[in-house]
Amino acid sequence: MHDGSFPESAAWQRAPMVTRPAELLAQLGLDAGLEGLDFERLRDFPLRVPQGFVARMRPGDPADPLFLQVWPSARESADAAGFSSDAVGDLASLKAGGLIHKYQGRALVIASGACAVHCRYCFRRHFPYGESLASRGNWRQALAQIAADPSIEEVILSGGDPLSASDDKLSAFVAQLEGIPHVLRLRLHTRTAVVLPERVDPALLDWLSRTRLQKVVVLHVNHANEIDAAAAAAIERLRGAGAALLNQSVLLRRVNDSAQILAALSERLFACGVLPYYLHLLDRVQGAGHFEVSQFEALQIMTELAARLPGYLVPRLARETPGAPAKTLLSW
Ligand SMILES: *Cc1c(COP(=O)(O)O)cnc(C)c1O
Ligand code: SF4
Repeated sequence: MHDGSFPESAAWQRAPMVTRPAELLAQLGLDAGLEGLDFERLRDFPLRVPQGFVARMRPGDPADPLFLQVWPSARESADAAGFSSDAVGDLASLKAGGLIHKYQGRALVIASGACAVHCRYCFRRHFPYGESLASRGNWRQALAQIAADPSIEEVILSGGDPLSASDDKLSAFVAQLEGIPHVLRLRLHTRTAVVLPERVDPALLDWLSRTRLQKVVVLHVNHANEIDAAAAAAIERLRGAGAALLNQSVLLRRVNDSAQILAALSERLFACGVLPYYLHLLDRVQGAGHFEVSQFEALQIMTELAARLPGYLVPRLARETPGAPAKTLLSW
């Protein structure tokens, strides 16, 4: 799933990955689980998880919250009504060059279709990256659109994961952005910084700390167990580069569907200097139905969470509604 253009010298690119289901089970000492796997579906969106992330899973526990996020369960084949392959309507907003300009003042650039980890609940698993990737060209089209629209003050690098792109590519893009006077802020939406902390390397920190743009890094962490010492150190390095740090999570059945688990996550994040931002209701994407938590239950969890934590540690429950001018907030 990566574009093959990364410099071979980057240490993060040689990081060991687990890609075979049988290997993941063997490493965790789990024996069952291969029956009923839909290998056809797996070809479209294969198992992929960094070795260092596997090390944060509890061996012998098939209900481990990190394992569940990456395991291609046979339940994915169950087709849930109302679950589609473009759940958030991004295809309608996608312009040539991988730019999505749905919300006022902010433009989102699909900087890379690749991810360090494949999350089974992901709404982008059916995304036609081949046709829309900004990184396939040289991002010139995206830059031209941003330059032509003075209302765009913030550029969000998303994906997939923008940190799948090389630092050469990212720093060149950011240098061009800096030449557009109305662009004030650069935002990175990344899960890689936590699941593959070695990606937060000197080359990344170099361009990130040098840019004149204000920097916001929105991490994606769903459970406190994801933040081990190496991930915490990577977060600290991002902070050192001058980035404001936020986190978004997805509310996932059996992974983080309780106020207790979410409170522990908020506290772990804050201990690392990260504020919780959004808690997303699952996008209704095909194959992810077994992760769904109903809106009713989500609101109950939020009420309990708000009773436990200081207000600044309570994320906002949000959902994406196709065509809406902003995320739909379900709690404040
Ligand atoms: C979520 C999202 C944003 C950012 O929204 P915020 O509420 O500012 O975090 C921007 N563009 C698109 C297309 C998005 O989906
Ligand atoms: S890292 Fe993000 S974009 Fe990539 S598979 Fe996971 S949730 Fe989806």
